[in-house]
Amino acid sequence: MGGIYYAKCPCGFEQAELYEGYGMNEQGGCLTLHACDTCRKIFTLNSNKKKPDLFDETDNCPRCGNAAACSYTVELDSDEEHHCPACHKKTLKFLPGGLWD
Ligand SMILES: [Zn+2]
Ligand SMILES: [Zn+2]
Repeated sequence: MGGIYYAKCPCGFEQAELYEGYGMNEQGGCLTLHACDTCRKIFTLNSNKKKPDLFDETDNCPRCGNAAACSYTVELDSDEEHHCPACHKKTLKFLPGGLWD
C-alpha cells in the first residue's frame, strides 16, 4: 500500500497527487519521489524500471534529464521540512492526500 501526498511550500509551490510506495500490483514496483530544481517540480520514479546494468544510474528527471536535487522520504508523522524545488529552501511540507492500494 502506498500513499498519495500533497506538497506545499510557503513560497507558493504546490503539487498534488504525488504517489509514493507500493501499489496493488506487486510488479508495479516501488514509487519514489524526487525534486527537480530545473523543472521546479517533484517527479516520481518507479524503482522497478531500473535494469541491472543501470544499477548505478542516478535519479534523473524524466523531463529534463538532470539529476534530482534530492529524494524524499515522506513521513507524515514528523514535522520535518523538505527541499522545495521552486525556492530551494527547506520549507516544503507533505500533507496526506489519501491512500492507494
Ligand atoms: Zn527536470
Ligand atoms: Zn518553496
